[in-house]
Amino acid sequence: MGKHLLSKSSFIKGIQCEKQLFLYKYHYDWMDKVSENLQAVFKRGTDVGVLAQELFPGGKIATDDPKKSDAAINKTSKLIDENTEVIYEAAFLFDGILVISDIIVKIGNKWKIYEVKSSTSISDTYLIDAAVQYYVLSNSSIEIEDISIIYINNQYVRSGELDIHSLFNIESVMNLIIPKQEFIEKETSRLKEVLLRKNILGIPIGTQCFDPYACSFFSHCWENVPDYSVFDIANLNIKKKFEFYNNGIVNLEDIPEANDLNDNQRMQVESHISNKTIIKMKEIKQFLNTIKYPIYFMDFETFMPAVPLFNNARPYQQIPFQYSLHFQKKSGSRLEHHEFLAEANGDPRDEFITKLLKDTKDIGTILVYNKSFEISRLKEIAKDFPEFAYEIEERISRIVDLMIPFQKRYYYKPAMKGSYSIKKVLPALIPELKYDDLGIKEGGTASSAFESLYYESDLFKIEEIRNNLLNYCKMDTQAMVEIFNDLINLL
Ligand code: SF4
Repeated sequence: MGKHLLSKSSFIKGIQCEKQLFLYKYHYDWMDKVSENLQAVFKRGTDVGVLAQELFPGGKIATDDPKKSDAAINKTSKLIDENTEVIYEAAFLFDGILVISDIIVKIGNKWKIYEVKSSTSISDTYLIDAAVQYYVLSNSSIEIEDISIIYINNQYVRSGELDIHSLFNIESVMNLIIPKQEFIEKETSRLKEVLLRKNILGIPIGTQCFDPYACSFFSHCWENVPDYSVFDIANLNIKKKFEFYNNGIVNLEDIPEANDLNDNQRMQVESHISNKTIIKMKEIKQFLNTIKYPIYFMDFETFMPAVPLFNNARPYQQIPFQYSLHFQKKSGSRLEHHEFLAEANGDPRDEFITKLLKDTKDIGTILVYNKSFEISRLKEIAKDFPEFAYEIEERISRIVDLMIPFQKRYYYKPAMKGSYSIKKVLPALIPELKYDDLGIKEGGTASSAFESLYYESDLFKIEEIRNNLLNYCKMDTQAMVEIFNDLINLL
């Protein structure tokens, strides 16, 4: 039994960037901390993998602990010798690559291999993953009949019990990966050589840092790139950013006067260099004229379970579970606050929309920040719960997007650093109001926090998460109130 140098994931890291493979293998502790969002993605992958095993029930697990690869390989051989028909997490080693296959199924004397992905389509990287798997397994002790990728069918609509045969698509990729076998063999020897080198730290940053995945050694490799640099120029093509960088143009001050930036990008650079705020008063006035008191400042939070938890829901559908609503009757009058946060014990949508419609029933503008998000969620509810459709349309007709003055650069401060996201606009306008002290600081974490409540039984933990969610969503609408007041004050 030889020791393995590569695995499927380290192979993919290696073809993305040799340095990434080297650091992953020898400087694992230099890796960036895994964010809560990424942890949630990993957990989702594991949960979907376990659920997909039910497509082929009655199998035996070969890998109890992926770190104990020898034990897993031995157990796999034993299960194969014992004529086990379905094996989960089967481990194989060939040419220094360790592969753990999600599901293998024996049909006659041959085997069908299944790789499970929690995505809704098959990417090129998944094909490489399957090709590596085929390379190792077809050179091991078993004969392969077919290799397929199991992925989530985003057209599935849950109705009653979860139907896993409709939830998953199974697609053979055998014809696509056999032509890749020569490439896999060549890359395997190249990557093994990379791992035998003493040092590989001289590789510069480049577009490979983002493609196909954001690399996990950013803090190490990008430590000399300043906090605000050419990489922060809004909507600038990544190749153009690297063209600047590779020519020694790193800070915005370094950009030559003759450049092919568009008007907004040039404005961002000039505003930074001169430290000047841009205010287009006429446009701001016109925008503010579209807003009529009373004003509702509204914000939603949603979560997107990969596997639909409720009837009439699709995989990865954004399910609204919370809103915050600040309400002001007229200019200068006292702010009222209304909010809703669902209990994590069923489908939140019915109660969410019933309460929201009640809280917004009077006339007046409904202000949101980035209206496509809120309007899309409202339209989805109208489609899934047609009894609310008429009233929802009425609310949509009153929505105005507070993001417009910032997106269209009617109002721009250098501290916005090219962004019009509320998380950048707020501290630029009202530095004392920050998300930093909150238990939840952004929407992705709010989503995974709420989803975790469905599986949480510790009452103290539940209370803490719910308080964090309430504070976070309230902060979003409070921020909108402050931003709106700031615009008014300009006049
Ligand atoms: S950050 Fe970029 S250069 Fe550094 S290891 Fe990752 S991909 Fe390679």
